[in-house]
Amino acid sequence: MGIAEKYEAVIGLEIHAQLATQSKLFCGDAASFGAEPNTHISPITMGHPGTLPKTNVKAVEYAIRLGIACGSRIENNNYFARKNYFYPDLPKGYQITQHTTPICVGGAITIKGEAGDKIVQLNRIHLEEDAGKSIHDVSELDTYIDLNRAGTPLLEIVTEPVMRSAAEAVAYAKALHSLVVWLGVCDGNMQEGSFRCDANVSVRPFGQKEFGTRCEIKNLNSFRFLEEAINYEVRRQIELIEDGGTVIQETRLYDPDRQETRSMRSKEDAHDYRYFPDPDLLPLIISQEWIEEVRSSMPLLPATLREQWQTNFGLSAYDAQVLSQDRASANLFTELIDLLGASQAKLISNFITGELASALNRSNVAAVDMPLQAKQLSYLLRRLIDSTISAKIAKDIFAFMWEEALNGKEVSDVDQIIESRGLKQITDSAALGVLIDTVLQANTKSVEEFRAGKEKAFNALVGQVMKASQGKANPQQLNELLRQKLQSS
Ligand code: ADP
Ligand code: MG
Repeated sequence: MGIAEKYEAVIGLEIHAQLATQSKLFCGDAASFGAEPNTHISPITMGHPGTLPKTNVKAVEYAIRLGIACGSRIENNNYFARKNYFYPDLPKGYQITQHTTPICVGGAITIKGEAGDKIVQLNRIHLEEDAGKSIHDVSELDTYIDLNRAGTPLLEIVTEPVMRSAAEAVAYAKALHSLVVWLGVCDGNMQEGSFRCDANVSVRPFGQKEFGTRCEIKNLNSFRFLEEAINYEVRRQIELIEDGGTVIQETRLYDPDRQETRSMRSKEDAHDYRYFPDPDLLPLIISQEWIEEVRSSMPLLPATLREQWQTNFGLSAYDAQVLSQDRASANLFTELIDLLGASQAKLISNFITGELASALNRSNVAAVDMPLQAKQLSYLLRRLIDSTISAKIAKDIFAFMWEEALNGKEVSDVDQIIESRGLKQITDSAALGVLIDTVLQANTKSVEEFRAGKEKAFNALVGQVMKASQGKANPQQLNELLRQKLQSS
């Protein structure tokens, strides 16, 4: 047995999601990304003496929203704490965070694991402010500081150490990512750092109860880096132990170019930070009424929708999963069901996960920015449903409408396109018969092959007739009629 099979990985994730609020956590400065450096820095952000923080209610509401969605217990009596350390990007000399009273306690997120569903328990979800940014690549000698990000609101979501592979950790991170975006509490933009993962990794021999010593890999800002970093770290720790060494608890960084983790600093303990309640802030009281108000304003959760769709429309678990990946797709699906009827659920689902998804992908457009509306799509699908057009023609018309919409043009009327280009499906057997006869006469070789028992030749003939009809022949009728003709003549 290889050494890798002797050990089990143990992983817990701490994920920072930047909240999609207009302003920062404790002042009115804009929390937006990408502004000129040091333009969103009021005296409060700068920590000038005499300034006082004031808690952003929206940020608290977002924290409650996520807590409800994860089934966490919402803490009624919260306070904010100061976490003290010195760093140039931290103007106050401390970070305002939560220490002993995270807003959300416990809860879970369900992921699809290799062996079915797996529940990832959460330890806590708490609110804290972000630090500024040190910029090292502008000048060779100097480090520049941009404090725009200082004070922007973050939710830190901490799991229990329950994941056992990089794949599980990635599945969890993806599930959490799609949930925070679904709930509208985070824009999910990983390039801009709106969603970043710290991975705590340890290993232990299979069968051992106690956890091994962990290392924490900081600031993984893509799912791929998360996976690579964990896999590297697991291998590193196993090899270290096998060579007679011991893992030292420390903070490490992942270098994507060299695909390895490197030591950054030894792990600090909580007491190093001198946590204490921030005397400038009042206790944060979250009443039961507030929690209920937030609950009633929340969108249906993806898991609830999946269940409903599977029961009411007979969708497969897979289709339901794909359709509920983002709210735009889910909304489009329900709108089309309203327009076309529940009996068309499978066709609608196939269209959204097939033709539409690949168009979005091809054009690099996110589902929220879908240029076509449900109404416009329903006109097209209706003509497919009532057999006015074939699936092939529907694809062509869709591609045409897509291009129009994408280029900001007015989207043509589906019936007009069908009419003006003569795209109606040919369902008249006499007309189909004429087409078939012509093709049979011109392809005597295929006809002979078919008679000699080659089924492939039949398909070739179908293809020829379809081509002759410019894709308009009703496929089912074409099949039947062609077989009849071949067998009778
Ligand atoms: P700290 O306060 O030092 O950040 P926590 O107890 O809050 O430590 O844990 C931080 C993260 O580390 C959590 O996600 C937790 O699940 C994870 N973790 C704790 N112990 C281990 C371990 N031995 N191996 C892997 N992950 C661990
Ligand atoms: Mg921590």
